[in-house]
Amino acid sequence: NEQSAELKTTKEQPKIENEPEVVKKDLEDEKNVDKLKKEDEKTEVGETKPGINLQGYCTNDNCLASKAKIPVWVNEEFKSISFVSNMTSYPCPDCKQLTVSSILRVMFFNSEHSICSSDDNTIVESNHYQCNYPIKLGFSYTLKADKIFQHAESLEDLITRSESAMVSNEILNLVTELQKYLITVVKPLKVKDTARLLEKIEFDYGGDTKAFRRAFDVGRFTILCDNGTKLQTAVGVMKKAEQFNLIVSEDKDFFERQSKTHHRFHNIKLYVPKHKVYVEMQATLKKFTTLEGYTIFSNPKLSHLFYEHIRAWQPNSPEDEDLKQVSDETLTKINDIICEWSNDKEIEKIAKRYKSHLAIGILKPPQLFNKSKTEIDSNSSLKIAEFVYKQLCTFTPGYAKEKEKEMTTKEKEKVREKEQAIYMVLYEYYKQNIIGDKNPASCDDFASILQESRKQEMEDDIAISQALETYIPLQANNYAHEDGKDDDKEKTCDCHQHVLTFLEEKEEDKAEEKSEKQEQQPSYKKKVMIIQGKSGSGKSIFCRHLEESLWNNYINDSKRPIPVYISFPK
Ligand SMILES: [Zn+2]
Repeated sequence: NEQSAELKTTKEQPKIENEPEVVKKDLEDEKNVDKLKKEDEKTEVGETKPGINLQGYCTNDNCLASKAKIPVWVNEEFKSISFVSNMTSYPCPDCKQLTVSSILRVMFFNSEHSICSSDDNTIVESNHYQCNYPIKLGFSYTLKADKIFQHAESLEDLITRSESAMVSNEILNLVTELQKYLITVVKPLKVKDTARLLEKIEFDYGGDTKAFRRAFDVGRFTILCDNGTKLQTAVGVMKKAEQFNLIVSEDKDFFERQSKTHHRFHNIKLYVPKHKVYVEMQATLKKFTTLEGYTIFSNPKLSHLFYEHIRAWQPNSPEDEDLKQVSDETLTKINDIICEWSNDKEIEKIAKRYKSHLAIGILKPPQLFNKSKTEIDSNSSLKIAEFVYKQLCTFTPGYAKEKEKEMTTKEKEKVREKEQAIYMVLYEYYKQNIIGDKNPASCDDFASILQESRKQEMEDDIAISQALETYIPLQANNYAHEDGKDDDKEKTCDCHQHVLTFLEEKEEDKAEEKSEKQEQQPSYKKKVMIIQGKSGSGKSIFCRHLEESLWNNYINDSKRPIPVYISFPK
C-alpha cells in the first residue's frame, strides 16, 4: 500500500527521468496482482458455506486434489471445534475420506465466532460476515461459530434497541448514502403493538421464550432498486458499512440464488455496536416487491397470504401431506412469476390460458358445504380450500392503480400478464388438488362435461341421431293432454319457439331478483313446463333437438343457463 501511495504521488508530479521506471513498476505490480488472483481462484476445491470453513490438504494417495496438492475447503457449519493444525482428520470434499490431515486457514462466514490459538492464548471474537485467519503449523486451535442472533434480553428490549438503532447516525448515514444513488429506502414501521409482534414471532419461530432472538424484521429496511445494476450498487454500499461504524455480519444472496420459497432478495444484516442490535437490509427490485404502497401488483398480498396458510401447517394424514407438498410447489411457482425466475416466454404461455372468473364461474369446493367457520378454521386443508376459492372469485389480474402514473403501458401489460399467469397457477392448483381432476372446478368445466356426455349418448343411440337429422318441428297446444282425445284439430304453436320464449321469461324474472343469495341458492320460483303427448308423438326427439339447439347457441359465460338432459328410462 505504501508503495502504491508513493507511485500515485509520483504520478501526480511526474519527473521526466523517472517516468519510464514508474510505468515499468506499475506494470509489474499489475502482473503480480493478476497472477495471484488467478492462482487463488484456480486452486480451491470445495465450497465455503455459513459457519466454520477449514482449508487444508488431503493426504489420500488416491485423491485427485491430494495428488495435485490443491487445498480443499471443509465446512463444519455452526459448532465448537478444537484441533492441532497438523494432526487433523476432516472429510475431503473430493475423495470423501477423512484424510484432510492438516489445516492452513480458517474462514468464518455469516456467524458470530471466536478463535483461540495455543500460540498466544488470546481469544479473537468477531461478528463480521467473512473473516479469514491463517493457521500456524503444529499449534492447537479452538474455534466456535454461532448463527447470528439478537443480543437483547427481552422482546421489549429488542424493540427499544431496534428503534434506537434505526434513528442512529450510523444507520442514517448509510441510508443517506444509498439515497444518493437514487435508491429507495423504505424504513420499517414503528412497532405499535408488542403483543401482536410477540404473537407473530411465536408463530414464525415457535413458542420458545428466546424466540425473539431470531427476529430480525423489527428493524428491517427494504431497499428498492430500479434494476439489477442498481441493486449491485446498493449491496456494494451496504457491504462497505464499516465506514459508518456498522459491522456487516451476514450476507445472504437470494437474488442470484433461489431461496426455499423463491422470494428474490439480497439480505444483509448490519450490527450496530452502539445499540448491540442487528438491523436487516433487504434489497430487491421495485418490480418484484409486494410491499404495500410500493408494489406495482394489484394483488400483492396473495403470495404472502398463501405462504401464511402453509408455513405452520403440520399435516396429519397422507392426503394432507400431499396437499401441503403441492401447496409449497404452487407458492414457489407464484414467486417464480413475481420475481421472474421464470422467463418471459414461460409467463406468457401460462397467461395465455387465462379466463376470468366471470367467464368460467369458479365452483365452490364441495368439502366446504355445510361447514361452519369454526370447522373450517380448525382444518388446514379446508382453510386453504376456502382461501383459494375466495381468491379465484375476487382476483382480477391487472396492476396497482395508485402506481398508474409512474408506469408505462408496457409495464402495465407486463404486470397484468404476470398476474394472469399467477391466477392460472392458482386455478390449476385448485382444479387438480382442491376440487380433484375428475370433478368440475368451474361452470365452464361443468358445461364441457355435459357436452361431452351428450356427444357420447348420441353416438350410442343411433336411432335418435338419425331421427334428429330428419327432424320435423313439433307443433303443440297450450292445454293438458287427455288420452283418447284427438289433438289434431287445434294446432296452435311451434313448440320450439314456445319453449324458448318460456326460458327467456324465466331469465328476465331472475334478473329482477337481485338478492345476494341467488348466486348460491336455487331460485325458489319453481317454474316448470311439462310437455305431454302420446307415445311416439316426438317428445323425446324434441327434447334432444332442443338440447342441441341450446348448446349451439351457448356462450361461455357463467351467468348463462346450461341445458341438462336427464333420461328417465336410463
Ligand atoms: Zn481427498
